[in-house]
Amino acid sequence: MRLADRVNRITVSATGAVMAEAERLKSGGADVVDFGPGEPDFPTPEHVKRAAVRAIEQNLTKYTPTPGIAPLREAVCAWHQREFGSDYSPAECIISVGGKHAIFNAICALINHGDEVVVPSPYWVSFPDIVKFAGGEPVFVGADPVNAFRLRAEEVENVLTPRTRVVILNSPNNPTGATIEPEEFAGIVEACRQRDIWLLSDETYAHLVYDGLKPFSATQLPDAKPRLILISSFSKTFSMTGWRIGFTLAPEPLVKAMTKLQSQSTSNPTSIAQHAALEAARGPMDFVAAMRVEYERRRARILEGLRAIPGIECATPDGAFYVFPNVQALLAGRASDTTALARQLLEQEHVIVVPGEAFGAPGFLRLSYAVSMERIEEGLRRLQRFFTAARAAS
Ligand code: PLP
Repeated sequence: MRLADRVNRITVSATGAVMAEAERLKSGGADVVDFGPGEPDFPTPEHVKRAAVRAIEQNLTKYTPTPGIAPLREAVCAWHQREFGSDYSPAECIISVGGKHAIFNAICALINHGDEVVVPSPYWVSFPDIVKFAGGEPVFVGADPVNAFRLRAEEVENVLTPRTRVVILNSPNNPTGATIEPEEFAGIVEACRQRDIWLLSDETYAHLVYDGLKPFSATQLPDAKPRLILISSFSKTFSMTGWRIGFTLAPEPLVKAMTKLQSQSTSNPTSIAQHAALEAARGPMDFVAAMRVEYERRRARILEGLRAIPGIECATPDGAFYVFPNVQALLAGRASDTTALARQLLEQEHVIVVPGEAFGAPGFLRLSYAVSMERIEEGLRRLQRFFTAARAAS
């Protein structure tokens, strides 16, 4: 079939393919340990669910303004101010169908054919494809595993050219969990400011940080605001992935352009989900704190278990809910790459992991610890068995 070039430029999300395979095996009754999930395993908080039920009962089920209902845009600005001390008005806020949609709209609103967009690598799978869809060229900047994947300003500066239009930052990062240290972040802001480059800060995981780190937003850097596109989401912070609510805080002309785009594609996000998000934004944050404590406990256990397997090296992630071990040393004589290794793990041990190639990082695997402690223990047992057998065979 003849398809449009813009569709041929992109590929299906690699993590989506893993989830589909997990579903297929599970529906066949297999006892699968699934380290694939990119979403919290906690239910959406009760008060948020009740708000959605109320919205249905009150017939709040019609079209809303394209950028979202006014109370939600106000509540998002107020929430962000409470959490990070930022100063945005509803005219500088647009609600979209998840953070992914917000990133898609922002990139499509800014990028012309041939524009370069800096993407930190290892990267979240959708960044390069969204850039390519818009006609831009992703330029990768590799964070050093030796520095626990923490991106440095100098590394970003080295890849900037006169064609660079946007720099994407993602702290904490998916898949590495690494954060960018505030001084380095400030250095990147300054480099962008000097060259009139937009900074797109994807803060989807900002609240999921450990070891006493405080949630950080680029809005805390004094010079960032004029060129900052801040994107975040209710998905991970409030365990609301399926509700599809994300938002952008950015200068008003860009918000207007994104609203125009949204008005001719999805229109408003679901009215019911917006009312649920309103409750989440206005409500208590203790649920988030409890989730963070549990993730931290699991992170410690999965790191300990992985590091006990000879040949595996794993940096300590600062945040999100992923570990990103280096398994390069265990590939020899076993698998050509981590995609082949992940397939073997699935077939032989019914363990699902995401291969590093999906994130531009061959030799690594991504394991999510948004799964119960009991499943983590079972998964570690199987990984231990798999890799011990692999060593014996090599
Ligand atoms: N950004 C990153 C780094 C992510 O990992 C994800 C989801 O996995 C998103 C954005 C988008 O999430 P959502 O569209 O559910 O808000």
